[in-house]
Amino acid sequence: MQARSAEERREALVDLYQEARACTRCPLHATRTKVVFGAGNADADLMFVGEAPGQQEDVQGLPFVGRAGKLLDQLLEEVGLARSDVFITNVLKSRPPGNRDPQPDEIDACKPYLQRQIELIEPKVICTLGNFATKLLTRSQRGITGVHGRPQVHELGGRTVRVYPLYHPAAALRSTKTLEELREDFRGLVALLEEPAPVPIGAVAPMAAVAAEAPPEPPQINLFD
Ligand code: URA
Repeated sequence: MQARSAEERREALVDLYQEARACTRCPLHATRTKVVFGAGNADADLMFVGEAPGQQEDVQGLPFVGRAGKLLDQLLEEVGLARSDVFITNVLKSRPPGNRDPQPDEIDACKPYLQRQIELIEPKVICTLGNFATKLLTRSQRGITGVHGRPQVHELGGRTVRVYPLYHPAAALRSTKTLEELREDFRGLVALLEEPAPVPIGAVAPMAAVAAEAPPEPPQINLFD
C-alpha cells in the first residue's frame, strides 16, 4: 500500500468522524446525545482506548472528560505528555444507557471505526484502558490484573503495534494500590515509545526482541478479524 502523508490521513480521519456522527448502525444512536469519536493528535505515536463514553462524555462529545479523564491527564503530565500529544478514544463511540456493558452487536457495529482509526493514525503503541478494551484488543480472556504494564505485539488495523494494557483510570480512583500500579506502568510508557517498530508477527525476529514480548494468546474475541 502506498504511504499517505499525515495530512491525507488526518483528512480521512475527519471524514470518518463525519460518518460516525451520522451513524445508525446500532441501537445506541437512538439514546446517545453526541457521538464520542475520539480526540487528540491525528498523527500520534500513542493511542489510548477505553471502553465506552460515560455520561459527561456523551454530553460533551469528547472522551475521558470526567474524573477518570482528569486522572488520565494528570498521569500523562507526570510523564511529560499532554492530551494533544496522544489520541484518546473508546471501543464504542456511543454511550450505553446507564453505562451498562457494551453488547456484542454494538461492538460489532462499532469496530470498523476503531480499526480505521488505527489504520489512519498509525500509532506505535496502543494503551488499552481496563479489562474490556484489553480483552477485546488482545483477543484474550486474560484479565487486566495479570497483563497490565507488559507490552504485547498484535496485528491491529492492518498494522503491527505494541499493545500496552493499563488499569482503567476509574479503577485507580477507587484504589490507591491500583493508582500506584497505574502510575508505575505510565513510567514504563516513555521507554516503550522509544522502542523501534515491532517485528510483524510471523517474521523472523531477534531472540532478544521475542523474549521481551509476552506471546499473544489464541484469538477468542475476533474484534479485528
Ligand atoms: N470511561 C471510558 O472507558 N471512556 C470514557 O470516555 C470515559 C470513561
